[in-house]
Formats: sequence, C-alpha cells, structure tokens
Amino acid sequence: MKSDPAYHMIIGGKKVSAPSVFEVTNPATGAVIGQAPNGQKSDLDAAVESAQTAFKTWSLVTDDDRAEAILKVSAKLTEHAEELAQLLTAEQGKPLNGIGSRFEVSLLKDWAEHTANTKLPVKVIQDDETGKVELHRKPLGVVGSITPWNFPLAIAIWHVLPAIRTGNTVVIKPSPHTPLATLRMVELMNEVLPAGVINIVTCDDTSSNLGAEMSSHKGIRKIILTGSNRTGAKVMSSAADTMKRLTLELGGNDAAIVLPDVDPKAIAEGLFFGAFFNNGQACAGIKRLYVHEKVYDEVCTELAAFAGTIKTGPGTEEDSILGPLANQMQFDIVARLVEEGAKEGRVLTGGAPGEGLFYPVTLIADIGDDNPLVQSEQFGPVLPIIKYSDIDEAIEMANRNENGLGGSIWSSDVEKARKLVQRLESGMGWVNQHGMLRPDIPFGGRKKSGLGVEFGEEGLASYTDIQAVVS
Ligand code: NAD
Repeated sequence: MKSDPAYHMIIGGKKVSAPSVFEVTNPATGAVIGQAPNGQKSDLDAAVESAQTAFKTWSLVTDDDRAEAILKVSAKLTEHAEELAQLLTAEQGKPLNGIGSRFEVSLLKDWAEHTANTKLPVKVIQDDETGKVELHRKPLGVVGSITPWNFPLAIAIWHVLPAIRTGNTVVIKPSPHTPLATLRMVELMNEVLPAGVINIVTCDDTSSNLGAEMSSHKGIRKIILTGSNRTGAKVMSSAADTMKRLTLELGGNDAAIVLPDVDPKAIAEGLFFGAFFNNGQACAGIKRLYVHEKVYDEVCTELAAFAGTIKTGPGTEEDSILGPLANQMQFDIVARLVEEGAKEGRVLTGGAPGEGLFYPVTLIADIGDDNPLVQSEQFGPVLPIIKYSDIDEAIEMANRNENGLGGSIWSSDVEKARKLVQRLESGMGWVNQHGMLRPDIPFGGRKKSGLGVEFGEEGLASYTDIQAVVS
C-alpha cells in the first residue's frame, strides 16, 4: 500500500489538496482507510484549464507516439498492480483473488494493449479526376470521465485510455465511495504522461458535486459516464446547452433464459457467476433468471448446491470468492428487495442480512415477474428465478423491462440460442455465458441502459468528431 496516507487530486501534473476531506471506509470492517480531497468548483475549473492547455500539444502528437504512451501507462500500472489491487479491495470490498481485484487490475493491460493497437485511419471515400474526399477523425478536446464504485479501476481505464489515445485530454472524477485507487492510479499515470493530459478531481457528492458541474462545464467537450440511469438522465439534460458528446453506460436488469434442453448441473456454475460475479454488483450480470418448467426444479437445486460451495468473506482472505456489499446505500437496496421477493417467493438459500455489510448469496424461486425484486436492478448477491412454459412468453417478460444492457440464452442447441438471443432488446446477447466483455467487442446498452458504445473501433471513434476534407 502507498506509504503516504494523504491522497491528493492531480491537476496539471501537480498534487493538489482541497480545503476539506472526506473519509473512505473499508466495507469489510467499517475502518477508515484514507481521506480523499473534497474538491470544489474552483478545482474543477483548474483541472479543465490544465487539460485545455495540454490539449494544444497532445492533440498534435503523432498517432504512433500516442500509442506508445498508452503502452508506457500500461507498463507503469502493471509494475504497481499488487499495490492497486490491495487498495481496491480495501475500499471496494471485492476479494483479492478469483474474479476480484487482481483480476480487475489485470484487465488494465489487456485494454491498454488493444487500445494502443487500434487505429482510426483516414477514410478515402473518393479519389478520382473529379476530386478527393477524405474523412478525418478529430479529437474533441477535454473529455470528462465520471466513474462508479463497482469496478473503479477497470471502468476508469475504459474511459480514459481511448480518450488519450485519440488525442484528447481528460478530467476524471471517481465515485466518492471508491476514490482512492483511482487517485493513486492517476498519480502513477502522471509519471509517464505529459502534465495535464490526465487530471483527477474528487468530491463527496454532498457538499460538492463535481459530476454535475462537469456535465454543464463549458470547457468540457464530452462526458463519458458509467453509472445509474438516474444520473445518466441528469447528465444528458445538463449537457444539452454545450452540445457535449455523450457516452452513457447505465444500469441493467439483464435476463437469462434457460431452455428445456439444458443439462442443469453443467450450466449451474456459469449461471452462478453470470449472476454473482462481483457480488452481483455488475451492470451486465444476470438479474432475472427465467427457467423452463421442464428443468425448473433441477436448475434451482443445482444452483443452490453450487451456491453452497462459495465462501463469502473479507476480500483480504485469500479463499474468499465474494466479499461484502460495497457500501451501506447498496446494502439497504438489496435488503429491501430481498424482503419484497421473500414475501412472494420461496427462499432457496440466504435471505437475511449477515454481519456489517455482508449479505449471503440469496436465491428466491417461485416468484412472479411483477415483483420489485424482478423489475428493479438489485445490484447485489440475490437472484430471482421465474418459471415459464412458453419461450415467446419468456422473451416478452425479458423485454418488458426498461433496461437493455445484456441478455443470454442457455441451451444445448447453440444455433437455436443464437437466433433466440437476437430477439432480446439488449446491447449484448450471450449464449451459454453471461457478462464477458472484451476490448474488441463494442459494449453498450439499448433502451434506458445507455447511449453509445465503448470498446472496439466504434468505441474509440466516439472520442472523435468527423471532419470531411473535400477538394
Ligand atoms: P451513480 O449514478 O450513483 O454514480 C456514478 C457516478 O456519477 C459517480 O461518480 C457519482 O459521483 C456521479 N454523480 C452523482 N451525481 C451526479 C450528477 N448529478 N451528475 C453527474 N455525475 C453524478 O452510480 P453508482 O451507484 O456509482 O453505480 C452503480 C450504477 O452504475 C448501477 O446502476 C450500474 O448498473 C451502473 N453501471 C453501469 C455500467 C455499464 O457499463 N453500463 C457499469 C457499471 C455500473
């Protein structure tokens, strides 16, 4: 862990303190693990100004040199991978092992390498004796990145690297629940990038809400937000006056549909991690499971049996697979929705809060599709299991929700599942898996789950405007 207990914002390559700080606690123990600066509007203004100054030179750096810089960032962060993973577990709660902090930090390298190697070449759409027409991709200017608390480092990297790669400069603002690992990561990035290319501000969201200020800031050209639908709508409305470019990665209430031809024992592990990955605090995780009546009882039994093999415990214990919920607010949402679900359904396992912010894996069967646990995004370790008899009915229920982030079909007939999954109104359609993201596959939500995509060429292009050069 970092030896200096004080965390600073980084503006123009320099450490900056705020007049006050807010405490960050470890969700596994409740202990204070650090203090983050409660930045003010003047800090945001300074960060935007420094990013604007850096843009003047960074936007002129050659494409190859920018790709090289991304690889240097990757090498620097990889050198500090264990330190970042420890800090992430301390502030977020997720286990060090399994699909936890070390895994999240390892994603930084994959995404950096892919981002460095992706190019947006000039597209020639006419070149003949009557003229020449080229489409050039132009950086936008200052990009504002606003990140949530569930995957603080991975999501920050997903926002920031493509922005820098395409010649933009950045001001990032992490969630007040998990600002520390991002503060440290940006400090490390500043060791290899020119001053002002990436700046970070933090705030408590109570006395100061810099995310809201960023959305209407005249010096920011694009906002990329990963967060809730509610925040997405606010950002969209306050970004209107300045005509900001927007990428909004918002909430999900993903359905998984299990067909009658599956082997319940064989799919139990995949279904489990599709739902309980990151303790259920994943935007594109299974939040509603629809199972055909023919295999319903067996799928419930196998899932409950697999859940019984999973250890929930402090993230620092090397054999913990799931940790605590990341904060009190999320714990309260989960507890309330489990209560609603248990009023109607049959609790197969879990169902009552544990110590502190720990909540046991909870499966609730025989529940109706209208139950709040099914219709809301629970974002925690609880899964409602709904029985269906007709696939058209299951698809209708899956699509009835206002979210449209991911969805999956589980079947031993992959071709049939590939066709059915295309009927789901979701940005990602998986077959016999759920939640896997890759740097080369565009990822984004349909309906209220968001606007635009990240990753792949399409994601990279969203950090640019087109200029058509006609001669
Ligand atoms: P949140 O919307 O409460 O906060 C997200 C970020 O927005 C934080 O940094 C917060 O400080 C900031 N913010 C708060 N008020 C703001 C305002 N008025 N204007 C601008 N920014 C503001 O979300 P959260 O609770 O941190 O994260 C959980 C949510 O994020 C869930 O709904 C989850 O599904 C979603 N999420 C989506 C994806 C995706 O890729 N689609 C990934 C992870 C999480």
